[in-house]
Amino acid sequence: MTARVLIVDDIPTNVKLLEARLAAEYFEIVTAFSGAEALAICEEGGIDLVLLDVMMPEMDGFEVCRRLKANPRTYHIPVVMVTALDQPSDRVHGLESGADDFLNKPVDDVQLMARVKSLVRLKALTDELRSRAMTGQQLAIEDSMRMMDTISADGGDILIIDNDIRHGQRLQEALAQTHRVDVLTNPADAVLQVAEKAYDLALVSMALGDFDPLRVCSQVRTGEKSRQLPIILVAEETDRPQLVRGLELGVNDFIMRPVERNELSARVRTQIRRHRYAMELRQSVTATMQLAVVDELTGLYNRRYFDRHLALMLEKAQEQERDMAVMMLDIDYFKAVNDSHGHDAGDAVLREFAARLQRNIRGVDLACRFGGEEFVVLMPDTDYAQAQNVAERVRQAVADFPFVAGTKKPLPVTVSVGVALNESHADVPETMLKRADIALYAAKSQGRNRVVFDAA
Ligand code: GH3
Ligand code: MG
Ligand code: MG
Repeated sequence: MTARVLIVDDIPTNVKLLEARLAAEYFEIVTAFSGAEALAICEEGGIDLVLLDVMMPEMDGFEVCRRLKANPRTYHIPVVMVTALDQPSDRVHGLESGADDFLNKPVDDVQLMARVKSLVRLKALTDELRSRAMTGQQLAIEDSMRMMDTISADGGDILIIDNDIRHGQRLQEALAQTHRVDVLTNPADAVLQVAEKAYDLALVSMALGDFDPLRVCSQVRTGEKSRQLPIILVAEETDRPQLVRGLELGVNDFIMRPVERNELSARVRTQIRRHRYAMELRQSVTATMQLAVVDELTGLYNRRYFDRHLALMLEKAQEQERDMAVMMLDIDYFKAVNDSHGHDAGDAVLREFAARLQRNIRGVDLACRFGGEEFVVLMPDTDYAQAQNVAERVRQAVADFPFVAGTKKPLPVTVSVGVALNESHADVPETMLKRADIALYAAKSQGRNRVVFDAA
């Protein structure tokens, strides 16, 4: 994992020190010696993380951070404050100005790497999600940029795993004012616990008796619900070697005993905020992608998705010499429904038609609204007889029961169906669709409410 890190400090020796350590881990380093310079560099783009000194003449680190976080172009860049003042109030001040994390001078190597790697990983994830959202709807990214502001880091559901009951309770007390906290003293129950409840964070003590804390962490992450669960290790000075291993394995952060309350609450807040942000982003990306591929009225896939999918499936069928069928359906005399009962009734018929279609094809078949009152179904591994079966079943499911469409009486509806099978390696999506369409046209001209196969 490589990334471009901007180091900002008015004292060149400090810059050199951090630069040497990070360069040894193959990070690409950019340097700035004042707040103004740092802002200009970030504005240009391409920075993945900022290490920001607090005490600088002219513009201090808090102000730089505030400006970075207020600018939509630099908003998403993670900022780590580097402070000489070991003042809890300074940390709170830093987090209030929007900093994502902080480090104390002299900077500890393990801490430096842990913070940098964790934030760079998060940035890579959000970059990826942001760019996916970008290909969808512009709206979605703008939403996601604003989201971080509105995301609360309070009221988190936190699980503490510590088999020393007193230690566990002390951590709980420190967090209980702003969060909901469960304490688990038997690490063997951890997997079950995170499967039952959706936590925002786990605090795992490294002193777990017979249990290996890193194994507990990885087990916790195997569950469906807890795959992305942030984990903070609570460690003693003597745990260092294992701690480093834990961070390499993807543990998000750690805190040393004796645990300092302000630091605990700051680290917890940061992890919860990041976690919630990532979850929201993922959801908005999913929603955006949904919009791009699904027909709004019927909930079936749209034509754009179908075209893409058909091309892939046809290629696969040809490579593996397997059967495939395409079924094209068009509702009969649909214009008359609109004309006699109104557009809303027409829409209701389309929705009900889509539902019946979906119910009468198989799980592997892919149905889409091709446009208007035309639908198409892709049926992999399907030969003539099977296609005949499915098509006939759908036709009957439509014709046998009139449609409830908000009209006085339910409306009788029928559908005509054309089917084409893949034939040769020369077939491409267009030729298959064309043949299905010709068959459909034949079904219409032979009297409608019937299934016709492509003659070729
Ligand atoms: P045929 O049996 O030959 O298919 O006759 P038809 O009336 O079904 O075919 P035609 O293509 O003449 O008319 C299709 C109608 O479908 C015209 C259009 O107004 C209507 N339509 C297309 N999309 C929608 C929609 O989203 N909602 C509603 N209510 N009507 C739609
Ligand atoms: Mg029609
Ligand atoms: Mg039509």
